[in-house]
Formats: sequence, C-alpha cells, structure tokens
Amino acid sequence: MPLYEYRCSSCGAQFEQLRRMQDAGAPVTCPKCQAPGAERLLSTISSHSGASAGQAESPCGAPGGACGSGRCPYQG
Ligand SMILES: [Zn+2]
Repeated sequence: MPLYEYRCSSCGAQFEQLRRMQDAGAPVTCPKCQAPGAERLLSTISSHSGASAGQAESPCGAPGGACGSGRCPYQG
C-alpha cells in the first residue's frame, strides 16, 4: 500500500496514511482535531525511481535530462 501525505485545512497538521490506491481520494479525518476533509499532498511517491530514463534530474540540476544532450546550459 502506498503512503500518502495529508494536511488538515482546519488546524494545519500534516500526517501520513497508508491507504489503498482506490481510497487515496476519499476524505480523511484529521487525527489531531478530528476535522474531516484533510487534503492530500502530492508528495514523495517517486523517491526511489531512478529507472525511468528521461525523467531523472541531471547531476548538474538541468531539467529533463538536458545535460545529457552534450550542450548542458548549466555547465561550461
Ligand atoms: Zn486538524
């Protein structure tokens, strides 16, 4: 099960919940103030995906793998 991050719009608390993917968009109750409707944060899902080519950040910080084109605007 993926881990999702939520933030309570009432008290501002952030918390994590393990949920099934089909439940990810369902309302969440804040564990702190019990307010319903905490919003999901787009987060940390792809922390370990170095496998997909073209999407990875270049070592120099150039977006979209521009560094690999041989004309890196960020270096040299
Ligand atoms: Zn709250």
